[in-house]
Amino acid sequence: MEILAAISRKGAAVPELAEATLGELRPDELRVRLVACGICHTDLHAHSGFLSPLPIVLGHEGAGVVEAVGSRVDGFAEGDHVVLSGSSCGHCRNCRQGTPSYCNEAMQRCFGGKRADGTTAITAAGEPIHSHFFGQSSFATHALVSPRTAVKVAADLPLDVLAPMGCGVITGAGTVLETFALRPGQTLVVFGVGAVGMSAVMAARLAGALRIICVDTNKERLNLALELGATDIIDATAAPAPEALVKAVRALEPEGVDFVFNTTSAAPLFDAMVEMLAMRGIGGYVTAPRSEWVAPLARMLQRGITLRGVLGGDADPQRTIPLLIRYWREGRFPIDRLITRYPFEQIDEALSDFTAGRVVKPVLLMNKQMESIHG
Ligand SMILES: [Zn+2]
Ligand SMILES: [Zn+2]
Repeated sequence: MEILAAISRKGAAVPELAEATLGELRPDELRVRLVACGICHTDLHAHSGFLSPLPIVLGHEGAGVVEAVGSRVDGFAEGDHVVLSGSSCGHCRNCRQGTPSYCNEAMQRCFGGKRADGTTAITAAGEPIHSHFFGQSSFATHALVSPRTAVKVAADLPLDVLAPMGCGVITGAGTVLETFALRPGQTLVVFGVGAVGMSAVMAARLAGALRIICVDTNKERLNLALELGATDIIDATAAPAPEALVKAVRALEPEGVDFVFNTTSAAPLFDAMVEMLAMRGIGGYVTAPRSEWVAPLARMLQRGITLRGVLGGDADPQRTIPLLIRYWREGRFPIDRLITRYPFEQIDEALSDFTAGRVVKPVLLMNKQMESIHG
């Protein structure tokens, strides 16, 4: 079928909105009419060609309505509303244990730009375009997805609010709830309050954190973090040196904090993370240091420090997304506060606002394009 898709090409500054053809629905797939898709930093990296082959349709925080169900798919019906998350095989050890972000096939399935069988679902003017980014490729009006990628949600929920649940939100909230398993009375520092960091703040408040200290250079975001649950903020423009950050945190918590969640990639902040943790503290990180960094293993040993890389918040989307939706409905997990909406055709503007830090979580809305395509 004919669709509109944002195609990332080599050397292009931004994805180009173009008409494309979505292939036949496979028996083991769902066809989803996308209503909204969040933009995540991983899309930016992938657009530059670092993570996936080009040309490709990116987008991995899609949400929409099931339009067609493959003959071998159980548990879904036409008209179901779904939030899309990462792709996983469903039968390796990690999938069976409920941690599908560590699926043995996750890297290939999420970043390979193809179905597991090596085919791509999209062509543009006859040229094959890579698809199935995170099993979805949701910068488009439609996508073919694996049912494991789709989480069914109630039809009365706003899909534009739920879209970022699939990556940014589950990563931040999952790190606090699953990786750290934060308990009431514990303390947390969050480096970088973008959508991932803010989701961690909200989850830490839900879990009963005693102190939630946010570090960022964006004053507006720090103020929003205070509204969403931060107990203290540190403006890193005033204390840019890692030593100064450690001092500022230890002034609040002299023995150090139980957890640091680092959403940034500056190498000196990884040192700061180690130094502000309490004995036996855990530092979680979701992106690697931008430059070479040697872990201070002796310091870590002396104090029993763990550094833990975290993918997808260690969470099972099928379990965690419905839980977070319940909290959202109750007003206790207000992710709608993070969102700025853009019509799909303004993807350039959404990307430039996002890159410049003017918005926390841009969400593209595909509805209008649907009308233009189908009259
Ligand atoms: Zn993401
Ligand atoms: Zn697996």
